[in-house]
Amino acid sequence: MIQVTKPAKAPAILLTKGKPRRREHIAAYNKGVRGFTFDSKIYGHKTVKEALINAQYDKCFLCESKITHIAFGDVEHFRPKAAYRQSTSDPLQKPGYYWLAYEWSNLFLACQLCNQLFKKNLFPLVNPSARATSHKHKIEREKPLFINPSLDDPEEYISFRREVPYPIKNNPRGKTTITDLGLKRQKLNEKRLERYELLEQLYLIAFRTPAIPESKRAKDLLAQAVQDNAEYASMARAAIAAKFTLVP
Ligand SMILES: [Zn+2]
Repeated sequence: MIQVTKPAKAPAILLTKGKPRRREHIAAYNKGVRGFTFDSKIYGHKTVKEALINAQYDKCFLCESKITHIAFGDVEHFRPKAAYRQSTSDPLQKPGYYWLAYEWSNLFLACQLCNQLFKKNLFPLVNPSARATSHKHKIEREKPLFINPSLDDPEEYISFRREVPYPIKNNPRGKTTITDLGLKRQKLNEKRLERYELLEQLYLIAFRTPAIPESKRAKDLLAQAVQDNAEYASMARAAIAAKFTLVP
């Protein structure tokens, strides 16, 4: 996971169509409605998706895999819109954060596996008693366990030993984010390991003494691998910072 900087200005459809829908949901809530129907044509509109693809360099905001060459990708709600769970074993609670369904700050691009297999309706808090259960409550009082890459720097919470992520100093937010969102699932580890081993060889070539003609190109490729737009950039940055010396 890396930081995500979205444009400050929300895509127009979230304002022109999302705001009126939000008002409808709030009015319905005030009349006692607790189940809502959301319009994916608004939050999942192509202009919203494109803005997220650009801001996130076409990567899943959780696992950092590139998405659109093999899948459509999901516009995911950080705070789940319809219902939530505090933990995987807890019952589903309704409503969810219905008033944030079309909120730009609540939307990210996720791969289908991170979203549909792991995140789903999960939204654990450090302080569940302060949960905002309606639009009348302030979400600022909540202390989410999941790292929000727009507000937090994920690399302060999660680092890597080789290809495997771990919570820095065993911090609970890093730990919950890794465990509940499947960030060390086997297939993901295998994919990152492939990249790790290539980067390790590049590193050896780049910093050989004496340098060889290929060293410069190797350095350039390493520099690209740590850019935000590179797949698994946070792993690459951790590996280079550790000079590839950590053993599994
Ligand atoms: Zn993902």
